[in-house]
Amino acid sequence: MPPATGEEFDYIVTGAGSAGCAVAARLSESGRHRVLLLEAGPPDRNPWIHIPMGFSRLFANPAVNWMYESEPEAQLGNRTLYQPRGKVLGGTSSINGMVYMRGNAGDYDEWRQRGCTGWDYDSVLPFFKKAENQQRGPSEFHGAGGPLTVSDQPRRHELADAVVAGAIESGLPPNDDFNGAQQEGAGYFQSTTGKSKRWSTATAYLKPARTRANLTVRSNALATKIQIENNQATGVTYVSNGVSRTARALGEVIVCGGVFNSPQLLQLSGIGPARLLSQHGIDIVRDSSSVGAHLQDHFYVRLAYRCTKPITMNELANSLPRKIVAMARYVFFKTGPLAANGVTCGGFGRSDPRLERPDLQFNFSPFSYASRGPEGAIAHQFPGFSLSAVHLRPDARGTVMLKSPDPLAAPAIRFNFLQTQYDLQALTTGVRMARGFTKQPSLAPYVAEEIVPGPTINTDAGKMRCPTCIPSAPAGWDRNPPIRWSIRGCACTASDGCGWSMPRSCRPCRRATPTRQRS
Ligand SMILES: Cc1cc2nc3c(=O)[nH]c(=O)nc-3n(C[C@H](O)[C@H](O)[C@H](O)COP(=O)(O)OP(=O)(O)OC[C@H]3O[C@@H](n4cnc5c(N)ncnc54)[C@H](O)[C@@H]3O)c2cc1C
Repeated sequence: MPPATGEEFDYIVTGAGSAGCAVAARLSESGRHRVLLLEAGPPDRNPWIHIPMGFSRLFANPAVNWMYESEPEAQLGNRTLYQPRGKVLGGTSSINGMVYMRGNAGDYDEWRQRGCTGWDYDSVLPFFKKAENQQRGPSEFHGAGGPLTVSDQPRRHELADAVVAGAIESGLPPNDDFNGAQQEGAGYFQSTTGKSKRWSTATAYLKPARTRANLTVRSNALATKIQIENNQATGVTYVSNGVSRTARALGEVIVCGGVFNSPQLLQLSGIGPARLLSQHGIDIVRDSSSVGAHLQDHFYVRLAYRCTKPITMNELANSLPRKIVAMARYVFFKTGPLAANGVTCGGFGRSDPRLERPDLQFNFSPFSYASRGPEGAIAHQFPGFSLSAVHLRPDARGTVMLKSPDPLAAPAIRFNFLQTQYDLQALTTGVRMARGFTKQPSLAPYVAEEIVPGPTINTDAGKMRCPTCIPSAPAGWDRNPPIRWSIRGCACTASDGCGWSMPRSCRPCRRATPTRQRS
């Protein structure tokens, strides 16, 4: 059914990212509802989006990335943290690392225990299965035939094998399905790729739905305000090609702008902390201190190693002939290094044996990089690889607040990372564990030296003093190095604001609050 004159729809979805594409496609499925999907970014035509290893070319590409920076924070030495987020059809699922990871089943159960009826793992599992097109076929934990293709790594790699073996030798159990019976362990990750291409939600959900007459997708259309009458959302004002338009919603407005932009749009629309809104001259529709509060993210340390063998992606990144060969292999046969996503294996562990569930994730990437430029991550000139220790459930709660009433201005993002003993301790333990992997018989022969944070940085309890952290700034680095710092007197800390941390849960003797803020 074509939209009625005067732009009237049943549902308006703002943001065509991971959530928005799925929501708009599902809502338009029956053909009974007219759906408008608004996306601030362009269509997903950049070829690097679809090549799994191409994600490094999107990491800092303003054409498809919001490229936010967090606010300086004292406990991080007043540094800001680079926050990539997708600004393109598919949203962050068009620029992310493609690791297929649902989260720990126990986290969902805890949500239900804390009052979120319908969010326990047994209740959400059928939806995960419905979404999934699992290469290994259907099983108790997996579905086949759904829109989201999930694949095994296209090839095993000597170095990845060594990392997995090193983690197992360190004490993690082997795991070949992190979305199955058990999360803890080490092994290869599955990815949201199919036919050796990225399977973003734009590919999975939107592409098959685009021919529906009742679905209107408008890219390069920034939602600037939700229209509200008598406490009901009645439409959305958006800017497209420099022109401001308003579309009416007879049913619902569904905000899917992601973890930073969703609260921003609500605040611009008068829903948020009254003081903040008044400060920016915005009429208050609903005083809600929760909008923009409770920001949660994982925080991680990337350790970079010089490799003893020239078997890493750094050699490819630094050689034009190798790049040509790799591209040819990918284009003609869909094989070779470009066919794999950048985070091929890793594991999950606990920072404290008393924990019921893992609170640490380890990610291996077959490259190491020195800096970030417009072309993406710039690899070290020598063979290298990275191991990240990710703290999945920090205590830290941050905020996303308007800095300006201008919808084009970035919001102020504050994480409050590393303010509690647990956050410091867990991350330090994660670094120690990752280093432990590299000392095991299987992995040690591949490790020439630790480049970042480097051997002078120790992880003894109590040594982490973040106010002493300093960013190192080799030539070519911008003011705020993105991921990597070498830090004097403590382990290095970084976050890319991925927002793919698992739902928060409690640890022994600690109370936790479930959050529905996470995207
Ligand atoms: C570098 C990186 C790597 C990651 N790797 C992984 C991984 O390997 N595995 C994993 O599971 N997760 C990963 N994640 C996290 C995951 O991609 C995100 O959690 C997820 O995509 C968030 O989905 P979302 O729908 O909430 O937001 P998004 O996917 O970000 O979608 C929001 C969309 O809304 C649009 N938008 C925002 N504001 C407006 C507006 N006002 N008007 C119109 N449109 C608007 C945006 O442009 C965007 O397209 C990664 C994230 C990053 C940044």
